[in-house]
Amino acid sequence: MPEGRVLTVTGPLPADRLGVTDAHDHLFLRSPAMAGQAFDDLDLAVAEVREGRASGIGAIVEMTPIGLGRRPDLLRAVSDATGVPIVGATGYHRDVHYPDGHWVHDASVETLAERIVTDLEQGMHPADWLDPGLPLDAARAGAIKAGASYHHVTAGERRRLAAAAVGVRRTGVAVLVHTEVGTAGHEIVDLLQADGVPPGRIALAHLDRNPDAELHVELATRGVTLEYDTIGRTKYHPDSVVLDLIEAVVAAGHLDHVVLGLDLGRRDYFRSHGGGPGLRYLMDTFVPRLRRRIGDGAVERILVTNPARLYAVAGPAG
Ligand SMILES: [Zn+2]
Repeated sequence: MPEGRVLTVTGPLPADRLGVTDAHDHLFLRSPAMAGQAFDDLDLAVAEVREGRASGIGAIVEMTPIGLGRRPDLLRAVSDATGVPIVGATGYHRDVHYPDGHWVHDASVETLAERIVTDLEQGMHPADWLDPGLPLDAARAGAIKAGASYHHVTAGERRRLAAAAVGVRRTGVAVLVHTEVGTAGHEIVDLLQADGVPPGRIALAHLDRNPDAELHVELATRGVTLEYDTIGRTKYHPDSVVLDLIEAVVAAGHLDHVVLGLDLGRRDYFRSHGGGPGLRYLMDTFVPRLRRRIGDGAVERILVTNPARLYAVAGPAG
């Protein structure tokens, strides 16, 4: 098992205590790019996480970044109510998620980086610096988010990737980068590596939106982690596409470079809000099929070992 500890919203935890980890999800989110799909209800989040836990999920990485309605106080409350360790996120999404005039558009790399490091080392800002005077939340972030656009990385996204790289170098925490429809992966890795980020600290999200196994093997060969997180997103493709991808990447020798998440980023995706597939889908519906494809041992590596290694930082728990 990986060594080190993971920074959860209720404190550092030995990495080997996470268990089955949903490596990318959301419990609270609000974005101008997704009008009418915000969710910020504590009781419904608790109900959803209880279902997920009953299905076998042991820990959740909640990747809502700065400016998208993240709620460190409510993440602590969900974790306390359910007993499920939750990792919170700092960092920034791609351009489209910030309204005109938001400070994220104009901030220097230094300011962007300073706020990431504050979230990681001291505690997440409760209002994402829209009200800079507020005291920091008790919960520290344990992951860094970044984002790129469709087949390109904008100037603002480059500045925010550079700031994320500072956060990785200073703290050792991993960066998870949103890819738009699975594109620009090599370019994102090039930029982060040029800024001194080791590939073992880089994960690329949503790659399964572009289910190109040859491309994914190329990226895994560079040492980065592939995150598949459109499981149950049948409007894009059937789960068999993701199963085929995992089987191909594992057959090419990259079992250690795959993690899974559900990325429930819209209210409609939650059973507690009357929708679906919901947090229990991963273990109830997808993983039994995956076990038949690649076996229990390989599934354990993908669900338990790989996310623990990805999100762990050096140092004793405590
Ligand atoms: Zn997400």
